[in-house]
Amino acid sequence: MAGVDGVAIGMLSEGEIDANLALFHDDVADEETWKGLESRRRSLRIMGNFCKGCENCLDACASGALSVVDGKARVDEETCILCGYCAASCPEFIIRVV
Ligand code: SF4
Ligand code: SF4
Repeated sequence: MAGVDGVAIGMLSEGEIDANLALFHDDVADEETWKGLESRRRSLRIMGNFCKGCENCLDACASGALSVVDGKARVDEETCILCGYCAASCPEFIIRVV
């Protein structure tokens, strides 16, 4: 693809590692494995009780999916692309992609 020098891929399970290795090595996806992985929906979780409302995560989100309402961070799930960059920016470690 023109203009792309590298790809960062986040993986959470052994199945995801196997599927990506197969895809990158053989350039062919294992249909059954991918079907199983795609049936699993992920979401961004913010443990709101511990949120300090510092707004650090807002700057980390290039998609504009986060806001702070009444002192607590919230995610717009329609806008969030689950990149996880906000998680690293939170000093309270309360943001997770699960
Ligand atoms: S996971 Fe990515 S897109 Fe979603 S809220 Fe965090 S930084 Fe924004
Ligand atoms: S960075 Fe963490 S503590 Fe700060 S507003 Fe975001 S979720 Fe809350």
